[in-house]
Amino acid sequence: MTSYTMSPVGFVRSCFKEKFAIPRQPQLAPAARGVLELVPPFDRAEAIEGLEQVSHVWLLFLFHQALEDKPRLKVRPPRLGGNASMGVFATRATHRPNGIGQSVVKLDKVEPGRLWLSGIDLLDGTPVLDIKPYVPYADQVPDASNRIADAPPPQVALEWDDAALQQASEHALRLNEPLVQLIEQCLAQDPRPAYQVPEPERRYGVLLWDVQVRWHYPEPGRIRVLEVALNRAD
Ligand code: SAM
Repeated sequence: MTSYTMSPVGFVRSCFKEKFAIPRQPQLAPAARGVLELVPPFDRAEAIEGLEQVSHVWLLFLFHQALEDKPRLKVRPPRLGGNASMGVFATRATHRPNGIGQSVVKLDKVEPGRLWLSGIDLLDGTPVLDIKPYVPYADQVPDASNRIADAPPPQVALEWDDAALQQASEHALRLNEPLVQLIEQCLAQDPRPAYQVPEPERRYGVLLWDVQVRWHYPEPGRIRVLEVALNRAD
C-alpha cells in the first residue's frame, strides 16, 4: 500500500486539557480559545502574510489521542447515544482512517509564529497538518442537508453555586480568559456519556486551562456547577 509522510506545521495550545467536555464540533463554544504555535519554517512572517485579511480558517489536524492501527469501517457516534453504528465516512467520529480531523475556527489575531483562535474543538497538543482560509462563497452551502446531524446537540439548563461563580470569575481575571462563558458553553452541551444515568450524588469534573471544574445533576437535564478550583497538580 502506498503511504505518505506528513509533518505538522504547528501544535495547538488549547483550553481543553482532556477529551471529556470538548464540544463535538467547532463554533459550539465561542469562548473556547487556543493558540496555534507554528513550527519552523512556518513560524516565519512570510508564511502568514495576508492571513490578517481572513476571519476564519480551516484546520486539518491529527486526532493524536485517538490513533488506531486497525481501520474501522463502522463507528458508534456519541450523537446517536453510542448505541447505533454508522459507516465511518458518514460521521465525523475521531476514529477514522489516517486520523485526520477538520475544523473551521475563528482567527482572532495573527502574529509571526502564532495564530490566536476561538471556537475550537481541539485537545491541547493537537498537531496541525495544514491551515486554509475559509472562503465564504465556496465553503457555505445554503441548500446542504445532513439527516444524521441536522441540528446542534440539545442543551441542558445550567446553574451556578454562588461560590463557584465567584471562583470562576476570579480565575477568568487571572487567566484573562472568558472562563465563565467557556464553562457554560461546554457544560450546556452535557458532556456526560449518553448511557450514564446522572445520579444526583455523582460528581463530574473536567480540567479547563489550569482549573478543575466540578458539577452534578440535581435532576436529569439540569447541571449545577459546584466548584472551580486551581488544579492540584499545577
Ligand atoms: N471538527 C472535527 C472534525 O469534524 O473532524 C472534530 C470532530 S470530533 C467529533 C470532536 C471531538 O474530537 C472532540 O469532542 C474531542 O473529544 C475530540 N478531539 C479533539 N482533538 C483531539 C485530538 N487531538 N485527539 C483525539 N481526540 C480529539
